[in-house]
Amino acid sequence: MNVVCVYSLSTFSLKKELYSPGDIPFGISFIATILKQAGHNVKLVVVTPTTPLEKKLQALIDDFNPDLFCLTAVSSQIPIIKQVGEIIKNIDPSVFIVLGGAHPTLNPEEVINYDFANAVCVGEGEDAVIELSRQIESGINPAGIHNLWIKDPGSGTIEQNPTRPFHDDLDNLPFIDREMWEPYISNKKDMIYTVLAGRGCPNRCTYCSNHALAKVTTGRYVRFRSPDNIVAEIQSLIKHDPLVETVFLETETLGVNLKYTHRLLDRLIEFNKTLTKPLKFGTNLALTTKIQNNRELLQAFKDANLDFFRIGLESGSEKVRQEILNRPKYYNKDLIEFCRLAREFDVKYTINLLIGLPGETIEDFQETVDITRKCRPTFGVSVNIFFPYPGTRLFDLCKEQNLLGEKSRTTIFERTATVLELPGFSPWQVKKEFILFYYKVYKGYKPWYDIAAKTIRYTIDTFPTVKRFLSKIVHFKSVLFSRG
Ligand code: SF4
Repeated sequence: MNVVCVYSLSTFSLKKELYSPGDIPFGISFIATILKQAGHNVKLVVVTPTTPLEKKLQALIDDFNPDLFCLTAVSSQIPIIKQVGEIIKNIDPSVFIVLGGAHPTLNPEEVINYDFANAVCVGEGEDAVIELSRQIESGINPAGIHNLWIKDPGSGTIEQNPTRPFHDDLDNLPFIDREMWEPYISNKKDMIYTVLAGRGCPNRCTYCSNHALAKVTTGRYVRFRSPDNIVAEIQSLIKHDPLVETVFLETETLGVNLKYTHRLLDRLIEFNKTLTKPLKFGTNLALTTKIQNNRELLQAFKDANLDFFRIGLESGSEKVRQEILNRPKYYNKDLIEFCRLAREFDVKYTINLLIGLPGETIEDFQETVDITRKCRPTFGVSVNIFFPYPGTRLFDLCKEQNLLGEKSRTTIFERTATVLELPGFSPWQVKKEFILFYYKVYKGYKPWYDIAAKTIRYTIDTFPTVKRFLSKIVHFKSVLFSRG
């Protein structure tokens, strides 16, 4: 059977849709890989705001004649994914369309009512799509598939099936097929790859979908792959591409479970000893009180050649963290000291932050600037304008307090567009602070040209119309050059 998996991006790139192999997303990759392994012909399509959708989808349907489309979306991808779904149904009303991902999982009542949607996947979709493809292939109207809400094509009635428990053993998942992404990657020489290390998070931050996703079904939500299984995937990566230099271990929670973290690091140390050129690693490090003077962890990072880690400070205001974000407990003084130690151990780190939170004032944000400056991130900062994801507690709070502007429903530029009307922090002030953030954190530490380049980048990011205009020029140029 012929299946198309669609992934969308709101970013524009100078060449292709993804910058490097490290940007390959996991959710849709698992779906595509599992369908391929089940013997189906699978095509991957990546779309952006500059993709000529009608032309591309018409050509795809004419050439490939798909029976099933799998679309995935977080909230900000919904506008483009809706266009994709509508165009597909206009071209071929008989094709079956299923939507999965965080937004459909948390908002199935809304998504199943899109005219083009035949089914919505709630939760992890690997087993559900296999059963769905089997039923479509045998010519029956899909029904009774756990995790799927299915719309009857005749009456329009909706069958809400129960959800199966979370996959208990992540080692049973396949290694994702990366080859299908190759046509979409600009910079294949950037030898950073990403490997999934775990799924789920034990924390309950109000702005993140994890607390809601954890409730969609039963079973263990926080899971790790075994260190041996992770190393086996890295070995297969090296076999495919001997030039791999760095592997980013994707999980939200490394550091919460220190026992597992050390087990994994020990395995990586052992593995690196077998290579002539040891690999470098990177990861997200969850902030908890366990970072306090944790030299042992940093020593293990160093020994495992873990070159950099990312931490989510989110706000420098302990009040905002506790009262608004419900972040796990960690203290600014411990973080500043941990960062100092990381510099001593020569392990690089980057800090993720949010701006424009409900209830946040300019003074609160000033604390974020001050603490970040004291942490002196050696691998850059990533500041994002707060985006309320439907289905999260903070979205509900924004709704209750009437803070949601029109753009919260229509923007595709999540995290760089201002979508809230905050009484103590106007959209213009948020934009200004977003643009000047890099300068304020690094003035006196970094060269002026680096600060100027980043400030220009942040300026472009926060004006969606400028961004759109630039992406159109970039697209036009690439079409022109591809013809020449
Ligand atoms: S720690 Fe990160 S992944 Fe976990 S709930 Fe909070 S924001 Fe989400």
